[in-house]
Amino acid sequence: MSSPKILINGAKGRMGQALIAAAKELRLTVGAAIDAGDDVAAAVASCDVVVDFSSHHATRALLDAVIAQRKAIVIGTTGHSADDKATLLSLAARVPCVWAGNFSVGVNLLFALTRRAASVLGSDYDAEVIEMHHRFKKDAPSGTAERLLEIIREERGLAADSIRHGRHGITGERTPTEVGMHALRGGDVVGDHTVMFAALGERVELTHKASDRAIFARGALRAAQWVVDQKPGVYDMQDVLGLK
Ligand code: NAD
Repeated sequence: MSSPKILINGAKGRMGQALIAAAKELRLTVGAAIDAGDDVAAAVASCDVVVDFSSHHATRALLDAVIAQRKAIVIGTTGHSADDKATLLSLAARVPCVWAGNFSVGVNLLFALTRRAASVLGSDYDAEVIEMHHRFKKDAPSGTAERLLEIIREERGLAADSIRHGRHGITGERTPTEVGMHALRGGDVVGDHTVMFAALGERVELTHKASDRAIFARGALRAAQWVVDQKPGVYDMQDVLGLK
């Protein structure tokens, strides 16, 4: 599709505003821009593809409208519980959908490097994930940190309960099967992520720092242009960027 009409959901938010600005910069067509309280079904009907950066409460109704009208969708919203996400993913597979915890090219490279490092360094290298975001962020850990944890777990064959969210009190010695997760909040930080692999005698740190949310907006709009031509199914940013 040459110039798909894009619906921006969560338009009044930080990402919504960044998406509107990026669409203008890239000369893309924004068919509608809505926020909480607006008529979702009517807005979906007027567009070819939805780009959603709103609230996890909004995803179900939005997906229902997209499925009913056979449109495509890009989901950037984070904060869903594991159970909700599993249900939503199975629904999303009925339409062309890109779902990504992070739309930046640099972070998608960080995902690939983390997978390689977790595999090469092995379980003798203790893995810890640290993220920092602005004081207004409502969920923790970030969707990006969740994906980094998932990659480490996949490479090392660890169960979901191996994640240790912060430490406090008499925690005992660290076990090789745990992965530490630490979420920092403050100021206007757009998004920092570090994956640390620490052994006795050396430490490897992989860090990505976002300084402008335009990177997420441009990536999500690239995904929107790509997904309108795909078959139904759930894709991620690695598919969009051809990194698989
Ligand atoms: P924000 O709080 O600034 O904006 C969210 C907007 O969504 C608000 O305007 C709010 O009114 C609106 N909203 C709430 N409920 C809604 C509903 N039911 N329908 C429509 N709109 C609704 O937040 P933000 O910083 O713009 O982030 C939005 C989401 O995107 C968060 O989940 C955040 O974690 C995520 N995010 C993802 C990426 C990524 O690359 N995947 C990057 C940045 C942010």
